[in-house]
Amino acid sequence: MLKIYLNGKIVPEEEAKVSVFDHGLLYGDGVFEGIRSYNGRVFKLNEHLCRLFKSAKVIMLKVPLSISDLEEAILKTLRANKLHDAYIRVVVTRGKGDLGLDPLKCLSPTLFIIASKIELYPAELYEKGLSLATVPTRRNEVEALNPAIKSLNYLNNILAKIEARNSNALEGIFLNSQGYVTECTGDNIFIYTEKGNLLLTPPVYSGALEGITRNCVMKLAKEEGIGVEEKLLTRYDLFCSDEVFLTGSAAEIIHVYKIDGRVIGEGKRGRVTELLQKKFKELTQREGTQIYK
Ligand code: PMP
Repeated sequence: MLKIYLNGKIVPEEEAKVSVFDHGLLYGDGVFEGIRSYNGRVFKLNEHLCRLFKSAKVIMLKVPLSISDLEEAILKTLRANKLHDAYIRVVVTRGKGDLGLDPLKCLSPTLFIIASKIELYPAELYEKGLSLATVPTRRNEVEALNPAIKSLNYLNNILAKIEARNSNALEGIFLNSQGYVTECTGDNIFIYTEKGNLLLTPPVYSGALEGITRNCVMKLAKEEGIGVEEKLLTRYDLFCSDEVFLTGSAAEIIHVYKIDGRVIGEGKRGRVTELLQKKFKELTQREGTQIYK
């Protein structure tokens, strides 16, 4: 039985309940983060919380705790569950309101933290890689619901996930309305080309989340002398690259061997993907906020 942090208290899972009038549930009005801890340390905690506060600011939602109090609440939740390697979900909703949309009628935001064991993709998948499909649903427009906001409204991503599964793929590639590649349903995407020794990823303004893992990988690649650029990419660029991989807190770094039936590079994990996986793993073991002091 998990122990959940809910509005200032640690409660058993069966007591962790929110109102059916919570606008997080009624309208997807809220923001969240998915964070990892490795070996008793929370990885990039401050970066995740800064992104949470930015998402909240954009939707004019006041997070009921300061960054440092929220950090402490997360560590407390991990300790209550005696976790070392965990997946942490932090959710802030608009709170309880009436059946209308008006967020001003929601007087007190709901904040909960779930810390649980991490369920990874099976190890074989990291050997074999992923086969991806481009999905018909386009990524939310930056001018409508900016994908840089990590909001509770994930229906765009869920539709894309359904379409990917309908095409027998575990992940789907989102294009924006101009036809440029943006990201996947829950991960950022990178391509590597031997020619020029270049690692490319779509810019956030094309319609992607500014992934914490994405930022780490870009930094690690630069440290390895690889050229890194944020660039508008088409499916052609993906098909003709030497390596493709996805990044995310849950998936970490996973290579892609096929996209829409086209084999990528030699159809196996590439040299640069393997190098970045190794460097990323070292970083996760070395860095982070200690849970048990
Ligand atoms: N894009 C989307 C749509 C996501 O939901 C996620 C996971 N939070 C990512 C990218 C990867 O972001 P991060 O590396 O911060 O987990």
